[in-house]
Amino acid sequence: MTLQLRWGARTDRGRVRAINEDAFVATAPVFVVADGMGGHAAGEVASALTVDCFRALAGPGSAPAEDVLGALGEANDRILEHAASSPTARGMGTTVTGLVVVQNGPAEELLAFNVGDSRLYRIRGEDVAQVSVDHSAVQELVDAGLIAPEQAAVHPDRHIVTQALGSNPPPRPDVWFIAPAAGDRFVLCTDGLSGEVPLQELGRLSREIEDPGETADQLVEAALRAGGRDNVTVLVVDVVEVSGDAGPDESTAPRASLTAENPVLPTDLAGNV
Ligand code: MN
Repeated sequence: MTLQLRWGARTDRGRVRAINEDAFVATAPVFVVADGMGGHAAGEVASALTVDCFRALAGPGSAPAEDVLGALGEANDRILEHAASSPTARGMGTTVTGLVVVQNGPAEELLAFNVGDSRLYRIRGEDVAQVSVDHSAVQELVDAGLIAPEQAAVHPDRHIVTQALGSNPPPRPDVWFIAPAAGDRFVLCTDGLSGEVPLQELGRLSREIEDPGETADQLVEAALRAGGRDNVTVLVVDVVEVSGDAGPDESTAPRASLTAENPVLPTDLAGNV
C-alpha cells in the first residue's frame, strides 16, 4: 500500500501575542506542529529545536517508525541541554503532535504521536473526530468523569499541560498507528485553533473547502476572527490515493483506550520511547 498525499499549512502570531512560539514542519512524509512555552522567547527555541529534529526525517518515501521515536527523544534531550545552558531558558518546553508516513511491513501507514495539548483531528466523510487525547489538567478531569468535555473547553485550568517535551524524566508520548483511507483529511493544530474555534466550525470548514492550503488559511482566519488570543498553527493533510495491496489495517489507539487488549504503543515499538 502506498499513500499519495496533498497538504497545506499556515501559522500566524495571532492578534495578542508579541511573537509566534509555534513551529511546524509540513514536508512529506513528516507533518508536525509544536507549541513552545517558556519566558524570554525560550518557547520559540523549544518548538524550533523540536521541528528541526523532525525535519531531518523529510525526504522521498516513508520514514522508519524508530526514527520518529528517536526524534522525540532527541528533541527532549536538546531542549533540556539548552535549558541548562541559560537561566532565562529554564523551564522551557513544547507540545508536539505529528503524523508521519511510515513503513509497516509491506505497507505504508500513518504513525501519529502526541505530547501535550496540540491536536490531531480526522475528517472521514461526515465524521469529524479528535483522534489525539490531550495531556492536560482538564482532560484528566474529563477522564475521571468530574467534568464534561464541553466544560473542559471553558475551564480556567484549560491551558495547563501535564506532559511536554523538555522534561526530566522524559514525557511518555502517545504513539499509535492509523490505517488510512483514500479521502481522509487530517488536521493538526496548536491550541490557538482548538481554543478559539468550536469543533463544529472546525469540522464545517474542513468538510466544505477542498484545497488543503485554503482550508488551513480559512481555519486560521476563523481563529483570528474569534479573538486570536494565541499563536495559531494549522496543517491540513489529505490522503488523495491509497494504492497497492491493503495494509494490515491495524489501527492502534492513544492512551485513552489503554487496556491489555489495546496497548497504547504498537507492541514492537513499546519501550523505545
Ligand atoms: Mn498555544
